[in-house]
Amino acid sequence: MEELLEQLLEECRPYTSLGKTADYIPELAKKDPDAFGIYVIGSEGKHSWAGDCRQSFTLQSMVKPILLLQALLDNGAEKVQSKVGVEATGKPFDAINAGEHTLDSRHINPMVNMGAIVMCTLIHGGSYKERFQRLLDLTGQLVGDPEVKIDQAVYLSEKNHGSKNRALAYLLKSYGILEDDVEEVLDCYFQACSIQVDCRGLAHMGAVLANRGKLPDSDQRVFPAPLARYVNAVLMTCGMYDGSGEFAIRVGIPAKSGVSGGIMAVVPTRMGIGIYSPALDRKGNSVAGIRLLEKLSERLYLSIF
Ligand code: GLU
Repeated sequence: MEELLEQLLEECRPYTSLGKTADYIPELAKKDPDAFGIYVIGSEGKHSWAGDCRQSFTLQSMVKPILLLQALLDNGAEKVQSKVGVEATGKPFDAINAGEHTLDSRHINPMVNMGAIVMCTLIHGGSYKERFQRLLDLTGQLVGDPEVKIDQAVYLSEKNHGSKNRALAYLLKSYGILEDDVEEVLDCYFQACSIQVDCRGLAHMGAVLANRGKLPDSDQRVFPAPLARYVNAVLMTCGMYDGSGEFAIRVGIPAKSGVSGGIMAVVPTRMGIGIYSPALDRKGNSVAGIRLLEKLSERLYLSIF
């Protein structure tokens, strides 16, 4: 497996020069566009890797499936769906998706920013500090690192350049969908996006989702099995932004990307995959990362279709 990962990584390396690091969050623009790594954890616990797989980066949108899990654990599917639906928007992740009559739960998706901001309000806790701590604890279990923490520089960079997210949050507030203090909710969201991981952590999270809630190398359960079906289905239909349909054809597995250049992928019952390559395409997906997943999927027959 390691030989295959090394070989595919080298075949896909030229694609890193076709993308660009995200620059609307200034701290992300400083990342090395040539960094490239992959880590795979099989359901039975076997680890394989290649390249810069232990370099750290932030979760960004890859925290959205964790927010969704936390919201589902705390409220159940019915309550979550009354606030945040499951249908793909087909629009960019930060789009202001609101005509006069369309801003209701059916048009708010958990894998785009509006949905993620609403999900912060669904986490249980006496204060936003406590809510974020509970999210961080769940993240620690999913990525297999109880010491997981946020990248302060990225967090401050997001907070200081978050006008678009503020616009989305105030819009939600004006429609009564978000009731709490906007700045407190956004602070929770910005911190959530700034949680630091590496490819190993992403692969671990993918493996837990692939194992329907169980840790890859034990019988310990992080969340009930039906939630994996919910989250993996949402990842399949809208985890790769407005490129999810094409990704379903080319790669065919549930996955979530983030503007840091990470991709967390789930091969149900088989493995979790973490990739890092910060040069992005225009939709915000890692160019070389998608190419690498496509090749891996072809070689190992990973597509679920
Ligand atoms: N923190 C980023 C934002 O709110 C997350 C976007 C992403 O990774 O898609 O814009």
